Amino acid sequence: MTLPVYDWISHHAGVTPEAMAVIDLYSGRRQTYRDFDARVDACALYLRDGLGVGKGDRVAMLAHNSSDHFEVEFACRRIGAIFLPLNWRLAVPELEFIVGDADPKALIAGAEFMDAARVVAKTVGTPHLVQCADGEPSDYEKGLAATRGKCPIEPLVHDDTWALVYTSGTTGRPKGARITHGQAFFNAVNAAMKCELTCRSVGLVFLPLFHVGGLQLFANPNFHIGATNVVMRTFDPLHFLNVLSDPELGVSHAFGVPTNFLFASQLEEFADADLSRIVCLGIGGAACPQSLLETYAERDIILQNGWGMTETCTLGTLLPRHRAMEKIGSAGQAVMHTSVRVVDEQGRDVPAGVNGELWIKGPTITPGYWNRPDANATEFTDGWFHTGDAACMDEEGFVTIVDRYKDMFISGGENVYPAEIENVIYGLDGVAETAVIGVADDRWGEVGRAFVVTRQGSNLTEDAIIGHCRDNLAKFKVPKSVRFMDELPHNATGKVTKHQLPRD
Ligand code: AMP
Repeated sequence: MTLPVYDWISHHAGVTPEAMAVIDLYSGRRQTYRDFDARVDACALYLRDGLGVGKGDRVAMLAHNSSDHFEVEFACRRIGAIFLPLNWRLAVPELEFIVGDADPKALIAGAEFMDAARVVAKTVGTPHLVQCADGEPSDYEKGLAATRGKCPIEPLVHDDTWALVYTSGTTGRPKGARITHGQAFFNAVNAAMKCELTCRSVGLVFLPLFHVGGLQLFANPNFHIGATNVVMRTFDPLHFLNVLSDPELGVSHAFGVPTNFLFASQLEEFADADLSRIVCLGIGGAACPQSLLETYAERDIILQNGWGMTETCTLGTLLPRHRAMEKIGSAGQAVMHTSVRVVDEQGRDVPAGVNGELWIKGPTITPGYWNRPDANATEFTDGWFHTGDAACMDEEGFVTIVDRYKDMFISGGENVYPAEIENVIYGLDGVAETAVIGVADDRWGEVGRAFVVTRQGSNLTEDAIIGHCRDNLAKFKVPKSVRFMDELPHNATGKVTKHQLPRD
């Protein structure tokens, strides 16, 4: 698409300069659109003149969530560079792979990540390493302070790449999904339409900003519409409830993965948290247990289930609030400007209610991966992106995500989708968190194993859990064993990392 890209921040700085753009909870920094625009400008000039970053060059960022991320992201837009947010949970060799692949001109790192960043920059040969420190004295602040004047806005089109977001790499080497300006624009339009964003919205951002969920739900849509983003450094369930309850902040929107909402609902404070200002709480990124949706519904909060991936620049489908309880368990219909299909192994549409692979097409879908012609050739068919998710669709186009195909296991010749079993186990009182995987079995090939974290004071037993599954599931889906754990492993977004669960 050759549509021109507008500079959202400069627009709002001209029209609503006094409107609040960013509130950074950790450092206490507050920036109106006028302030934010000035910071973006200083950052753009620093990148361009101080570090020699040009159009199409990558700028990496390895830091906890802060307003600095947004400055760098929008400074990249201003000069036509590509923003590369890095997952700070990764080990040095993993970072070396990604930074080596993307080859940025500069790496900006928070003080706590400087040791790792030094090693990575040296191994890969990154020309510039810059320390940032949440507004405290640092190379980054010095660099911005030394700039003068206004930075001209680089003319760009929607097909130009704005960010590279690396997938988790659970199925091999991480791949850098190109996120174009067009994708971000159409996602902003979709999010505004479907989640009732206005210039008066206040979004709380707590998913990590190296993930599309953090960047695009609802941070970028809020910047597009001229609303406010409140940034949390890392997720903490009590802090989350307190921030939602704070009338001065007035948070109206937030998006999280199921564990965020689950952990918050398990706190005593959940019962009294003031959720009266909430317009939309979106949930997605992993299977959403029905019991969790019901817990929030009892507090008159509809968690709107949305399905998306790094490659879809978040929202692919979304459950409309007015049908959320009737269609509980579904991730909703395709958002506007997007089409979805459920297909068999030959790429033919399957009938309603039949499981197949979810394919998606539209302007929010990545045009492809960075440096990966192999994946670009196999993961798309006529513009349809193969998601790798098992799903089914009803007659009205409501999609239910069954599971990732790679998490599916086969027991006695039958396909078993762990998400369905987890949903049943979540129906038991006393379950704080659960995950099911397939493990090798001499007789059945594979059988299910449930990992369960119980709530304090619960005396749930293996027999009770297996018995409950027997009452609610076909025999081949019933886990053969249960292991109790103090906690489950999670990735930085909060999703359970099943490959870290013991299979022996
Ligand atoms: P990521 O690219 O890390 O955001 O992971 C995307 C994957 O998360 C998808 O392919 C799905 O397997 C899963 N996912 C996202 N949203 C949902 C949802 N609402 N329900 C179930 N699984 C989801």
